Amino acid sequence: MATNISAESQHPIADYKSLPDEELQQRIEGVRQQYGSRLLILGHHYQQDQVIVHSDLRGDSYQLSQMAADSTDCEAIVFCGVHFMAETADILANRPDRLYSRGGRRIPVILPDMAAGCSMADMAAIQQVEAAWADMSEVIDTDEVIPVTYINSAASLKAFCGKHGGIVCTSSNAKAVLQWAFQRGRRVLFFPDQHLGRNTALKMGIDDPQMPVWDPYALDLGGNSEQAMKDSRVILWKGHCSVHQMFRPEHVEQFRRQHPGIKILVHPECPREVNDLADVSGSTGMIIRTVQQSPAGTKWAIGTELHLVNRLKQEHPEQEIHFLSPVLCMCATMYRIDLAHLCWCLENLRDQHPVNIIAVDDDTSHWSLVALERMLATSD
Ligand code: SF4
Repeated sequence: MATNISAESQHPIADYKSLPDEELQQRIEGVRQQYGSRLLILGHHYQQDQVIVHSDLRGDSYQLSQMAADSTDCEAIVFCGVHFMAETADILANRPDRLYSRGGRRIPVILPDMAAGCSMADMAAIQQVEAAWADMSEVIDTDEVIPVTYINSAASLKAFCGKHGGIVCTSSNAKAVLQWAFQRGRRVLFFPDQHLGRNTALKMGIDDPQMPVWDPYALDLGGNSEQAMKDSRVILWKGHCSVHQMFRPEHVEQFRRQHPGIKILVHPECPREVNDLADVSGSTGMIIRTVQQSPAGTKWAIGTELHLVNRLKQEHPEQEIHFLSPVLCMCATMYRIDLAHLCWCLENLRDQHPVNIIAVDDDTSHWSLVALERMLATSD
């Protein structure tokens, strides 16, 4: 959900598109200096370099939202990421205790381009999840099913999990979250990313036949038999990240053939066949730490978003870092956030007619927070 205030007085985006990069950069820095610590620009690790240099904080989506929520003097957040990330930032930065401590003042969370969505998050619409839940309740007891949503999902799905005794996970805590879920239920419905769900469950000793894939476009039971549902332990939603889905086992084999001694480092959003072949599989944070802690001369082929891999390459010239695909896999939606959109939203904010405010409604925020807090409690 977004709010555009006093649309008629806004500076139009068209005025910014033809400006040279140098001018946009100067104007962006001008607004940053004017606001100082009252403005937080968040840059996701997958963001392009010319945008991320203007960010105050860099991280993955959950880290950034938490850091922003913990800031004491922040008055506005600009999230250079994608839509679901801005929603999470709004939920955390404007949670009831934070609002209370600020005397009810909300912190607006701005997404520079509303078209910056996430193809994975879009693969599970709340109506589809609700229909699936009703459908599977015909053959299994949904009181025994714990819904788990990856943080890369719309706030409405986080709220669904909050309402149904479920939880949110990130790529770094997915195993602990599944363990939490199995202490409370017999089965898990995991969405929207089938690969993170499958790769995590396999490491916990759950076999493929116990993990039916639920296709929201299939006519009956997501394309599964009644018996498959009854035998299930983790029901995987048929969703994926279009970036990480591009890495293939043949890329791993080719790198190992051509670069003896190379290590393969991948994100668990990659398909199982790639995860199984990798030397290390882990979250974005783990990928960064793994490279940072490796000795000079280590050779890596890394399977995650292109901008992050290129940045690691620049920051670690003492190691040999390759991108694990001949195809350039970048997050095309995040790439929509460019200097023009960043400058446009900052100057509109400065001139008191902010654009693209992401504001999650109270009920959705409340139940999302319930699911997010359950996740936080798993790491206590
Ligand atoms: S990299 Fe994949 S999961 Fe992450 S924002 Fe882009 S499309 Fe979504």
